[in-house]
Amino acid sequence: MSKSKDGTQLELNRLKKENQELQQSFDNLSQTQKALELVIAESNNRQLQAEMAGMELEQIFLAVTDAIWVISDEGIVARANEAMLNLLEKPLDEVLGKNCSELLHNKLCSQESCPLKLNSGGQQQEYDIQVGRKNNQQEHYILSTAPLTTIVGSAGIVCQFKDITSRKHAEEKLTELNETLTKMALVDGLTQIANRRHFDDTIEQEWKRLARNKKPLSLLLADIDFFKKYNDHYGHQAGDDCLRQVGKALAGMTLRSADLVARYGGEEFVLLLPETDLEGAVCVGNQTLESINQLKIEHTSSDVAETVTISLGAATLIPAHDTSPKQLIELADQALYQSKSTGRNRVTAALSD
Ligand code: GH3
Ligand code: MG
Ligand code: MG
Repeated sequence: MSKSKDGTQLELNRLKKENQELQQSFDNLSQTQKALELVIAESNNRQLQAEMAGMELEQIFLAVTDAIWVISDEGIVARANEAMLNLLEKPLDEVLGKNCSELLHNKLCSQESCPLKLNSGGQQQEYDIQVGRKNNQQEHYILSTAPLTTIVGSAGIVCQFKDITSRKHAEEKLTELNETLTKMALVDGLTQIANRRHFDDTIEQEWKRLARNKKPLSLLLADIDFFKKYNDHYGHQAGDDCLRQVGKALAGMTLRSADLVARYGGEEFVLLLPETDLEGAVCVGNQTLESINQLKIEHTSSDVAETVTISLGAATLIPAHDTSPKQLIELADQALYQSKSTGRNRVTAALSD
């Protein structure tokens, strides 16, 4: 073999090897390119998903019926949804970038305890607040606040306003209704003066109070004379009307603020007179007689007068913790019986023990 032929063979081998190495590098590059393409595709996919998720969140944020805004540092509004714009009665460009206290007029705004101050806690909190609207109406909201890191990395707070105005109004109506019911429960339906229950409650309370203070409690028990005859003669409706007039006259008497006039039942009425002695009670009893006589309600069937009259029994006790109002009522009842049996249209004072 010649020398030049050997050289050519060697050259060929080197080229072959180089070619193989190039092929290897090419394969490696192809693989790397494929891998890169996969990574890029994956990354594009993720970005798309992130954008879609962002859009979805934005839609939810805008569509949610509760008013929501995001407040960044220094109380600046970074985001606000449609419901929030309705609450503020302003377009978006008059809200974004503004200070929340300029937009939301609430007495908490100027205070350190303002729920929207970023330093106010770091955890979710709830507040019952009122917001004034342009039509001067006050609306009630539950404000929930939660800390949030804004898109630029600064501290923020997300605030949700749940409108509870109609619930509040319903609660107010319910309270009113309950108060009316409570009042109704203490008022006599026919005469519109205090009823038996009101009297029972009051005498119990006064008994305890005056037992502590060792002061007298007086009771006048009043009963219309010959009322059965009145009903028989003038009819039940006229009887009812007579009871109304008597109730009105008794309730219209000038008494002390602690005194109570009530319908005891049927054609019987009571006057409860705290811190009044028997003499005072008899005096009030005579005024009561007079006020009924002044009504001049015709009662031709009465055996005692031409008009409606009443009889009264007066009694006084100094309450004690081991005695009960029942004793005072019994004493007044006995005195009333005396008035009835000694001619009616009069006041009798109970005999003291
Ligand atoms: P006296 O002078 O002894 O008290 O006789 P009186 O007829 O008034 O007493 P009596 O207890 O015999 O009758 C009371 C009457 O009062 C009988 C009852 O029908 C009537 N009465 C009780 N409650 C009402 C009411 O709400 N409306 C009417 N119209 N009458 C009533
Ligand atoms: Mg009676
Ligand atoms: Mg009677």
